[in-house]
Amino acid sequence: MKKVLVANRGEIAIRIFRALAELGIGTVGIYAQEDEGSVHRFKADEAYLVGSGKKPIEAYLDIEGIIALSKEAQVDAIHPGYGFLSENIHFARRCQEEGIKFIGPDLHHLDIFGDKIKAKQAAIAAGIQSIPGSDGPVSNAEEVLDFAVQYGYPIIIKAALGGGGRGMRVAHNDEEAKDGFIRARSEALSAFGDDHIYVEKYIQNPKHIEVQILGDEHGNIVHLYERDCSVQRRHQKVVEVAPCINMADDLRQEICQAALQLMQHVGYVNAGTVEFLVADDQYYFIEVNPRVQVEHTITEMITGIDIVQAQIKIAQGQDLHKDIHIPEQANIPLIGAAIQCRITTEDPLNNFFPDTGKINTYRSPGGFGIRLDAGNGFQGTVVSPFFDSLLVKACVQAPTFSDAVRKMERALTEFRIRGVKTNIPFLRNVIQNPIFASGEATTTFIDETPSLFV
Ligand code: ADP
Repeated sequence: MKKVLVANRGEIAIRIFRALAELGIGTVGIYAQEDEGSVHRFKADEAYLVGSGKKPIEAYLDIEGIIALSKEAQVDAIHPGYGFLSENIHFARRCQEEGIKFIGPDLHHLDIFGDKIKAKQAAIAAGIQSIPGSDGPVSNAEEVLDFAVQYGYPIIIKAALGGGGRGMRVAHNDEEAKDGFIRARSEALSAFGDDHIYVEKYIQNPKHIEVQILGDEHGNIVHLYERDCSVQRRHQKVVEVAPCINMADDLRQEICQAALQLMQHVGYVNAGTVEFLVADDQYYFIEVNPRVQVEHTITEMITGIDIVQAQIKIAQGQDLHKDIHIPEQANIPLIGAAIQCRITTEDPLNNFFPDTGKINTYRSPGGFGIRLDAGNGFQGTVVSPFFDSLLVKACVQAPTFSDAVRKMERALTEFRIRGVKTNIPFLRNVIQNPIFASGEATTTFIDETPSLFV
């Protein structure tokens, strides 16, 4: 590979450019008109406007525009990052047809894991416990009610192609179930262009635990331990921790083993994450994300393994152990603990309403054990209303979880961002909260802790 196009924007585009630069590979960026002044554009060796005349987000979804640019710029491969086209099988197929390597899993894996119903069926076939559910699509509200009679409330109604916490409805009674079905279906259709819906038992107060997997084209596959992503707001992750604390070692190992078993079963290639909910010492499969994730950073910090570089090398056909020098499973390092905070330009005192405008002051923390991945996190940049509000990911690594908590507190305190509002005051409240510090937070922690919002 001599040149790679990154079909993304913001922090993840920059993250990938950096990995490519370190590997001596040329970088090509793309930007929507509204991102003309965005930093990611200037971090690539060359960058081109895409989707001219399209709406801002649609520019990054312009498959044929991106393919045409890739051919013109003579790139060998495309890295899709996360979101946008990263799980789009049609895009991956178009890359293949044009002889451009898609840096991600095979089409077959995108097909299975792009659809949560198929993913669940694959997990069941691999012998992994998943949440009791309809195990197939439901086509009307009656079927949802039948499920509730069989399993009892609460239940959760989910879009098969859902993502980013959208297309999900919790129901505690028949009325909510009927209403939830209709709403989830219409939300799914408008957000994901598909109205397949399925139902699951709603697990009360679970932890969200996910396992990072790397597989190569030679059949080697390893896990890089787990992350605890229980601190969520509206089913979206806010703070992530690696490894999971406050969980018995044998349960942690069992979960990592189950993830590996599933990915071995399907012959997975490249980076992927297997997600589980854990309650009362039971773990249940929920889904696989067949791509790099926002929170891959904390796994990199505890293992010392560069996941994005590994993705690129895997796509070049390299061997996980012989070429990429990842140790055999038993010898993969696990050093201390890491935490990530997603700093967004949202106002926690105004229901997390996205704020926009020019960043007048931007002073960031630094020092030992701190890592920052920013998109437009620089003085003088303008935060527009068109895209995701993630400004910078702040990560820390320290010998123990409590050291990491203190380091994160120090890092958040050091930030000075003026001109746009950020969620930093809220994040500080989370980090200082004794439930968080004890490692006991579950997915309902934020909703059930009003003191975080002051
Ligand atoms: P997405 O693809 O939108 O991220 P997921 O299926 O990964 O959706 O679920 C996201 C979050 O929603 C989970 O981490 C959890 O907090 C909640 N959730 C999903 N399914 C269930 C369930 N069956 N019971 C309880 N919570 C759930």
